Amino acid sequence: LDPTNRNYSSDENDIERKLRPLSFDDFAGQEQVLENLKIFVKAANLRDEALDHTLFHGPPGLGKTTLANILANELDVGIKITSGPVLDKPGDLAGLLTNLEERDVLFIDEIHRLSPIVEEYLYSAMEDFKIDIMIESGPNARTVQINLNPFTLVGATTRSGLLTSPMRARFGIQCRLQYYNKELLSTIIVRSAEILGVPIDLEAAIEIAGRSRGTPRIANALLRRVRDFAQIKGNGSIDLAIAQYALNALNVDSFGLDEMDNKILLTIIDKFKGGPVGLSTLATAVSENGETIEEVYEPYLIQEGFIIRTPRGREATDKAYEHLNRTRQFKQGG
Ligand code: ADP
Repeated sequence: LDPTNRNYSSDENDIERKLRPLSFDDFAGQEQVLENLKIFVKAANLRDEALDHTLFHGPPGLGKTTLANILANELDVGIKITSGPVLDKPGDLAGLLTNLEERDVLFIDEIHRLSPIVEEYLYSAMEDFKIDIMIESGPNARTVQINLNPFTLVGATTRSGLLTSPMRARFGIQCRLQYYNKELLSTIIVRSAEILGVPIDLEAAIEIAGRSRGTPRIANALLRRVRDFAQIKGNGSIDLAIAQYALNALNVDSFGLDEMDNKILLTIIDKFKGGPVGLSTLATAVSENGETIEEVYEPYLIQEGFIIRTPRGREATDKAYEHLNRTRQFKQGG
């Protein structure tokens, strides 16, 4: 249930694909983002132009890839999907770009991880729909400029601050995705259960939603595990009792915090007397990369009021102490 982990078995990937909303109407939440996108798509369709390049940023599992696919569907165009770390040579990018049809979407996940050379190569493609390619080799080698079909680059990143500013400036549309509240997540769970063909009570959906860390990907993953319990230990349908039983057996925390979330809180409380502690010190103490803490774990812990960020570092709140059954030790002389 690691929210950063997309490397489920291929079966799980198939299910994830099946649960993916295909149109604006299927997509729950993110109202502000959706409202704007609908207008931009409508206008682009009306003018028969490519949609402006679009950047989605926000923590993993909130729907960036889903929205890229929805944009292509709503624009009624094709989509090519790749990711920053995969595209390591300008030649690979040129291959993708020259195969795009008019108004197609090119989706680049983890766009902050493009190599500088590939990134630079992308600039003229985004700006003028032109690229230079090298033809022949040896003494006859030369570059020629070729025109591309107008296309829409959709980029996704966990934090827009990780993008270089020239890259960021080339996106005419920039949307930040937020964590989902319990109500929205329960709607998503009910919809997914319907697709999976498993009956679910609303209270059970709400219970799962409350433990999903504000994240649809986690909600869907928990639903699938609870479904296993319902099939083996129950009668196949999911009610509140079986949901609670399964979630406890799976060791899912009542706020949906995962192992690393709790480790971060415990470390701040036990090792650093509640903080403040600096990011890099904290990262070393929990053996996790500082960037990942900042992009994946911290935003949720801050939003839910478990930690606060002060100029001197991160501090655990009373809610964190309570959640982990710790009592605050007041510092000597403090
Ligand atoms: P990201 O690209 O931000 O990591 P994804 O778009 O891959 O996240 O979403 C993860 C899963 O969550 C998808 O399988 C999708 O079915 C589901 N999901 C995300 N957002 C929504 C939403 N608003 N409504 C319904 N399902 C969603």
